[in-house]
Amino acid sequence: MTDVDKEVRVRFAPSPTGYFHVGGARTALYNWLFARQHGGKLILRIEDTDTERSDSSWTEGILKALEWLHIDIDEGPYFQSQRKDLYLAAAEKLFLSGHAYACDCTRDDIENRKKEDSKPGYDNYCRERGLVPGEGRALRFRVPDTGVTIVNDLVRGEVEFANVSIEDFVLVKSNGDPLFVLAVVVDDQDMDITHIIRAEEHLPTTPKALLLWKALSNKRLPVFAHLPVLVNEKRQKLSKRRDRVAVEDYREMGILPEAMFNYLTVLGWAPKDGSEIFQPEKALAEFDLGQVNHSPAFFDEKRLLFFNGQYIRSLADEDFMARGVPYLGKAYPGLGNEEIMRVFMPLASVTKERVATLAECVDLLSFLFDDPFSPDQDDYQKLVKESDFAGELIKDFLDRFKKALYQDDENSFPDSEKGVDIESIKAILVECADALGIKLAKAQAPIRVSVLGKRAGLPLFEALEVLGPKKVMARLENALADLAKNAK
Ligand code: GLU
Repeated sequence: MTDVDKEVRVRFAPSPTGYFHVGGARTALYNWLFARQHGGKLILRIEDTDTERSDSSWTEGILKALEWLHIDIDEGPYFQSQRKDLYLAAAEKLFLSGHAYACDCTRDDIENRKKEDSKPGYDNYCRERGLVPGEGRALRFRVPDTGVTIVNDLVRGEVEFANVSIEDFVLVKSNGDPLFVLAVVVDDQDMDITHIIRAEEHLPTTPKALLLWKALSNKRLPVFAHLPVLVNEKRQKLSKRRDRVAVEDYREMGILPEAMFNYLTVLGWAPKDGSEIFQPEKALAEFDLGQVNHSPAFFDEKRLLFFNGQYIRSLADEDFMARGVPYLGKAYPGLGNEEIMRVFMPLASVTKERVATLAECVDLLSFLFDDPFSPDQDDYQKLVKESDFAGELIKDFLDRFKKALYQDDENSFPDSEKGVDIESIKAILVECADALGIKLAKAQAPIRVSVLGKRAGLPLFEALEVLGPKKVMARLENALADLAKNAK
């Protein structure tokens, strides 16, 4: 465990410039775990200084996603766009103390002065010119020419940067806008942040942040933890152009928040006993920022689906159904929830066993709701081609089914009010299979494709029972008529 002797205050500081990325969610989660473990505070800071790319709808998305993941925030959100005065006051302080200087070089000026052998970055041209800040002038930080800046990182250990390799970076642009690096340090000091847990991509700017931090105050330095980058199966950094990265997309496809929470937790860390699927309590008890791996973490969608399947199967049937209903409601907007639930409930437990996401419920249960109904054409054509017995079997099944339904003596099958129960349906198909001399499994295919629409899906007899005799018979009649047409 990481030693902490001061109230822990961590921040999650997303930039609202796009869909909320799974990498951002992992950062938020690790901050949350750390704060909760130490009885500390988690602050949310929206870094919206880039006015062209920031949008309040992205902020909304971040807030919703955090809530969905049960990552609760103690303070904030604070918005950097509302704190500009603070950054400019800090900039002035840095100028007055000599840590910063005004610079009127344009990008072209800098480029034109560059010789082939000059080092990259700014050439310190204005360092000693004694310009006063004003319009058209940027403010640059005076980076020491000698010495090193050491980042003390819980994940990476000590990372040393030679000051000479750091250019005199811009704090305030020539148009008067403070830059990100300044805003972050001012805020981290102002908000008393003790631990900065963030993505690895920020490590290169961390020495700048430390130099600034020391120039601005003698507050105790924060402890850093730079989290490993997330990569795809080709070991490429996850990118929104290439990979599915938006938390919202996963939510839409029916990933459960608890599965996402769990999966994000193991992207860079694992409990000592090597378990992967566990409740948040275990993460809270055992998570150790100091044990976070620094090599890239593979965001494996297949693994997430596996986690999700496990979580789905652990839900009570009612809970599973309640979570699946909105997906069906979206696919069939004409149906009311009650109508959906009436047929979903008896199939909830068998559906639960067969889906990896909630959205897959739609595919598995579509036979109940599709109106008009038509079987999957590929599966249907295969059926026509492969089975010379399909017509015969369907006809036989239909006859026996009707008989079962309408027979009325005391040994009868249930009447048409009640439908035909699972055992009876199975018994009928066994009889049909026997009559044709084929196995039961083989006899199922024509009925399944004709009535449920696909070769694979829910257990046939349960599905037929819930669908009800009217629809079963109508679909079988249609299939028969169709097969007869095809045979001509
Ligand atoms: N706003 C930055 C981002 O979204 C995070 C900066 C930080 O955590 O210091 O990547």
